[in-house]
Amino acid sequence: MSGWKLHPTKRRITFTDKKGIGELKLLGKWDIHQYPVELIKRVRIVRRANGCYVQFCVKVDNQQDAPPSTSEIGIDVGLEYFYSDSSGNHEENPRFLRKAEKNIKRVQRNIYKKKKGSSGRRKARGVYARKHLKVTRQRNEHAKRIARNLTLANAKVVLEDLNISGMVKNHKLAKSITDASWYNFRQWLEYFGKKYVREIIAVPPHFTSIECSNCGAKVQKSLSTRTHSCNKCGYLEQRDVNAAKVILSRVNARVGQIQSNASGDVLSTSIGRKTCKSKERQ
Ligand SMILES: [Zn+2]
Repeated sequence: MSGWKLHPTKRRITFTDKKGIGELKLLGKWDIHQYPVELIKRVRIVRRANGCYVQFCVKVDNQQDAPPSTSEIGIDVGLEYFYSDSSGNHEENPRFLRKAEKNIKRVQRNIYKKKKGSSGRRKARGVYARKHLKVTRQRNEHAKRIARNLTLANAKVVLEDLNISGMVKNHKLAKSITDASWYNFRQWLEYFGKKYVREIIAVPPHFTSIECSNCGAKVQKSLSTRTHSCNKCGYLEQRDVNAAKVILSRVNARVGQIQSNASGDVLSTSIGRKTCKSKERQ
């Protein structure tokens, strides 16, 4: 074995390398119980704001059968909703996170009220870090749950290929974007896409918010206009739902010219590529 030995009960682990860590007691939920020791490929210790964790890297066959589905869905991530889809549904933004964020800000200000180098300041820093960690985890859990549901229910999920780093530079949008944990959400979509063998496709984002999903005309509107009202064909739709429909139509229009991406990281930068499949081909 490579530097560690798991106790037969799997409640203790001993590190046998020369760093002097020795035996550790494992607390919390032990998902590790489900896996035979032979499948554990790597073990490492990770430090988080609320303590140390032993991380097990387990080799498992990740693909799973999902219920058969032929449904295709386009999704538009916005500021008003976590996302809106081409069938007209809106997934609400998790407001509890915004509340928690206010609390975090207060705790953060607390740090600077304490004297530099004092133990009070150190403690305040710890409180801040733990609260921050909690919100990060809540966000992640939320994004994961939504992505899983969406992937299970649809054979094809089409989304916009947004340049998040470019958008976050705009400070007004920044908070809402991180709030909606869009990037994290997309990563989970790609993860579940692989797991359930579903297609997750990113299409170029240009004009999706102004194009008419019914006739293709370009209908200019400001950010505050919540309804798409086409002056050419008369089509009326909620703004984000119209965008989601346009997003879905983009992929159908592109069938036949989708290329695989044979190298590099396909997350968040690929344009109109089958991100899941191309990853497998690497
Ligand atoms: Zn129209």
